[in-house]
Amino acid sequence: MSVLNKESLRRDFSKDYKKYYSTKLFESEGFERKRCKACGKYFWTSDSSRELCGDPSHEPYSFIKANPKRVGYADFWKVFASFFKKNGHEIIESYPVVSRWRQDLYFVIAGIQDFQRIENGRINFEYNANPLLVPQMCMRFSDVPNVGVSGRHFTSFMMANQTAFNYPKEGYWRDRTIELNFKALTGILGIKKENITYVEDVWAMGDFSEFGPCLESFSGGLEIVNSVFTQFEYAQGKVNELKGKVVDVGWGFERLLWFNSGTQTAYDAVFPKELDYIYSSAGFKPDHGLYARIAGAAGTIDIAEERKGNEELKLIERLGIEKAKYLNIIKPMQAIYAIPDHLRSILFGVSDGALPSNVGGGYNLRILLRRVFDFVERYNLSFDMMKVIEIEAKELKPIYPEIDESIDEIGEIIELERNRYNNTKSAARRIVLDMVSKGEPVTKDKLKVLYESNGITPDFIGAVAKEKGMQIEMPEDAYSDIMAGDFVSGRRKKTEEIALNVSGISPTKKLYYEFADHSISTVQKSEGNMLVLDKSPFYPEGGGQEADHGTIDGVQVIDVKSVSGVIIHFLKKAKHFKKGERVECKVDMERRLRLMAHHTATHLVSAAARKVLGKHAWQEGAHKGEDKAHIDIAHYERLNEEQIKEIENTANNFIVNGIKVSMEEMERHEAETKFGFSIYQGHGVPSGRLRIVEIDDTRGNLIDAEACGGLHLMGMESNIGIIKIISSYRIHDGIDRLEFVAGKAAVEYIAGLEERIRRIAELAGVDANNAGKGVEDKIAELRELKEKYEKLEESLSVAVSENLLASNEMQDGVIIQMLDYDRKMLRRIATNVVEKKRSLAVILYNSSYDAVAISGTESGKSAAALLNENAAKIAGKGARLKGGGSDRIAEGKISLQ
Ligand SMILES: [Zn+2]
Ligand SMILES: [Zn+2]
Repeated sequence: MSVLNKESLRRDFSKDYKKYYSTKLFESEGFERKRCKACGKYFWTSDSSRELCGDPSHEPYSFIKANPKRVGYADFWKVFASFFKKNGHEIIESYPVVSRWRQDLYFVIAGIQDFQRIENGRINFEYNANPLLVPQMCMRFSDVPNVGVSGRHFTSFMMANQTAFNYPKEGYWRDRTIELNFKALTGILGIKKENITYVEDVWAMGDFSEFGPCLESFSGGLEIVNSVFTQFEYAQGKVNELKGKVVDVGWGFERLLWFNSGTQTAYDAVFPKELDYIYSSAGFKPDHGLYARIAGAAGTIDIAEERKGNEELKLIERLGIEKAKYLNIIKPMQAIYAIPDHLRSILFGVSDGALPSNVGGGYNLRILLRRVFDFVERYNLSFDMMKVIEIEAKELKPIYPEIDESIDEIGEIIELERNRYNNTKSAARRIVLDMVSKGEPVTKDKLKVLYESNGITPDFIGAVAKEKGMQIEMPEDAYSDIMAGDFVSGRRKKTEEIALNVSGISPTKKLYYEFADHSISTVQKSEGNMLVLDKSPFYPEGGGQEADHGTIDGVQVIDVKSVSGVIIHFLKKAKHFKKGERVECKVDMERRLRLMAHHTATHLVSAAARKVLGKHAWQEGAHKGEDKAHIDIAHYERLNEEQIKEIENTANNFIVNGIKVSMEEMERHEAETKFGFSIYQGHGVPSGRLRIVEIDDTRGNLIDAEACGGLHLMGMESNIGIIKIISSYRIHDGIDRLEFVAGKAAVEYIAGLEERIRRIAELAGVDANNAGKGVEDKIAELRELKEKYEKLEESLSVAVSENLLASNEMQDGVIIQMLDYDRKMLRRIATNVVEKKRSLAVILYNSSYDAVAISGTESGKSAAALLNENAAKIAGKGARLKGGGSDRIAEGKISLQ
């Protein structure tokens, strides 16, 4: 095989088409192989006069009907699923849209992802039915601006995955796939044989790690489905045939329903009730006659960005549509088409625990909501978003039975997001206006910054610019960059570089799962302060749990890490051990018990958070140290005191009522089926067999089950003692961190609190056992003393001022006097003097040269000027006043500098 790119692979496969593309069906149904006059691809057709492959770029849609059919989403699914069931497929339930089992992707973007588990950088397929069909809801955000416009793009869509695994041992291959495909197209969709074409193409993962030939089915100008035959893998510069080949047919269900209905757009077929409701509530009259003129042609352009507005305008000119009608009818129709799509994505996303935020996948959800808010405002659409979501949930419930469980939360989230958006908008408008008026170019980086720090969407910038009649250039793919950029890279964890080469060393035997604290082990490799043994009782850092410490042959172990199963011990001091040497390992059990208590407590706090806040309160991260631990919890608003207290109480109630921690290894799909995807809280380690840590109450009711490689207080449950949440703060938008202590650390923390109270009591001179009341009494006493003191100060100031007046030491009606009181007292005395004798002015200062000047109302002198003039006289040559004031009163410090 030549260089790996799609073009050359397609050439190679097509050259050998009998091996890669032909099927029995083509022969029996009389399909011949032709080459497309327009694009040069090879295709199969039973229509001998056909010259084009059927790609939508060569021909307009011809499946759109004057009188479209109205078939419900769930009803059509029933028909579709029963066809595959009849043909030997098991129909399995959809997986969540949030990809908890594959940490490199935030959302599920294709149905096949359900069965992909990444282990050591390679994709393994795992499945519990074969062949199967799954109604997998997927989310893609790279085409957001096309949604509502192109007539066919969605942010959430069902990929009905028809999958057969592991051919040739099980499953089926091309003949059966195309046979079923042909039966489905002619049977379910009623397409005439001569109107179907199959185009030879290639499917590949982005990095060509897996690829294979595919046959795309076209009819009526629409690509209906792509049947992929994943047959090859590419690794370390070599292409190999896969041992287990996979048939992967991702039926885009929205598209099928559209084709079947023959409506102008896919949205009319998928969201008929939602659209009826919005039209009637908003009092908007869609003009389908007008839209018909653009509907077919919309497929021929890909309006990727606002800046392609010109292309859009050219198109409407070509179609003879008036600009006013375009702006007042077609544009709002396109917005209304996008709304049910966006809200359905919110429905699925939130139901599976994704929340709108500025980070991760939540980013995408927030953009969708803000687009809906913008549409509502721009086109003045009045309708209830929750009503749209309710219609959707009702329609989807037969396929997704849990889809209506989070509706109340969604209502709360929409209101919160609306308020947040309104609050940021006025600030955003100023920023955008400033930018466009300066004529600054809108770069991708700038868009990202504007979005991340101000929540300003590209749409919003466009709208503000338009409002002001300004033209701005948007970069290509503005949305895809914003939306695709962060959520993948943000999730990818940086792998730490460890200087020790462990290749060729077999994985270390793990003794810590048996809770060993001691071993005599044999040295495998020693380099600097790094040491590898044949077996080790030391738990290596992982799953947020810090490493065990202890000693090896008396040398302190300060860190332990695992690299592909090989455990590396980091010693405090470099020491060389000979290969084969026997060494004695001793684990610091005090530390380990503390780490275990914090780990088990983390699972309890996580379970408590879900119980208190709802199932969206996903654990997004955790750390378990010796003295404290933390857990990061997803929630759509900042946790308040009450919620935090309730989480703490719930977690402690688990403990008080009795818990039992157990561990079981099981097959992944068994664990996923038994406990659901919530086993992947925070730190699921994907591997074929999972270590499931289960916490039950004493009656055996499940509290929490997680795939977890950490150490827990199994059989030592009482060590957990108590959990105390000690602080909370927001680490990202949408994620709160709870810091807590458990076990011995909690006992110490509480003892520390007690000590602090004792100290306060001692300082206050009250009884520590009754410190609250004691300190209260003290404060009352102090308040009384302060009042007395102020009264005394007042009498004193009166006495001093009278003395001053009596002394009569003045020049030109100005008294200048040094008095050692603070500035407040000086002000009081001076005020008393000028109130008694209004023709006087007074300057008073103390030994640190704080000075106050006040002029009597009849003195005719300016206090500020007086103070400046006399600064040198008071403090010596060159002295200046730092301060100032008015003619009536001035004060400050006189200094030599
Ligand atoms: Zn073609
Ligand atoms: Zn854990």
